[in-house]
Amino acid sequence: MNWIKKTLRFGEKIKKIIKTRATKTDIDNSDWTSCCKGPILKKDLEENLWVCPSCNKHHRISPRLRFDIIFGKNNYEVLKTPIPKDDPLNWNDSKPYKDRLKAARKKTNMDCGMMVINTNIKNIKLTAIASDFDFIGGSIGAAEGEAFLYGIQHAIENQQPFVLTSCGGGMRMMESLISLCQMTRTTLAINELKKNNLPYIVVLTDPTAGGITASYAMLGDVHMAEPGALIAFAGARVIQGTVREELPEGFQRSEYVEKTGFVDLIVERKDLKEKIFTLLSILLKKNSAINSLENETSEDNRTLTKAAS
Ligand SMILES: [Zn+2]
Repeated sequence: MNWIKKTLRFGEKIKKIIKTRATKTDIDNSDWTSCCKGPILKKDLEENLWVCPSCNKHHRISPRLRFDIIFGKNNYEVLKTPIPKDDPLNWNDSKPYKDRLKAARKKTNMDCGMMVINTNIKNIKLTAIASDFDFIGGSIGAAEGEAFLYGIQHAIENQQPFVLTSCGGGMRMMESLISLCQMTRTTLAINELKKNNLPYIVVLTDPTAGGITASYAMLGDVHMAEPGALIAFAGARVIQGTVREELPEGFQRSEYVEKTGFVDLIVERKDLKEKIFTLLSILLKKNSAINSLENETSEDNRTLTKAAS
């Protein structure tokens, strides 16, 4: 009878192993990840710019990978942005905010969730910025606000366009009002950029939500989105609970928000570089035409004033 017990126990063990799901760390450390058809080698995804060859899902990528894809490896300089004091509210929920920051920095190898670079596409110099979803969900706190402002200031000082790749769940609740203030600060900074007639292009990626959608990610001259990206303010479940209606298929996805006018065009990851270049070429020409028109007008005004006196 002992062998029966042994077999049963072995069976239980096998069942447990099969049922145990891989943790996020297991997946991070593995050569495999999963998509529509089950497991897929990360190497195969990487060769296709982290886009699934079967279902065209645009997987989330880090700022560095994104910059490598759009601007080319070693074709950009990462700018060091100011880091304000950590955890000013001494926040503690299920774990201290200080510990969350420490873990996020270790995981992403970044000081804050935003990366700012000085780069170019062909002959157009520009400042670009991208967020890392792995840094506390790409949320925005004081440090990210500072990074954004630093990026805008850099674009204005160098009189070059500004390109944002948005990603994140919204404002960082662990910084309460301080994080909400970043909505106003980033909006005011964009106004300064516009006063300088410098183009601001936004690329919305999965997910762009909450205060990010409600501020700097929706203030571009042109809004592009990667296919299938979640672009929202409040979550679908909250909306469904409020309106008590079945939400349409594809609600809050790029294709849906393009139809409703939130997004100008949907661009595949492989085409982003060309598309950004074309748009910047057009906008820069248009803006320089506006500048020269303003100069002509002020010249005319000066002549008129002189004549009048
Ligand atoms: Zn897939």
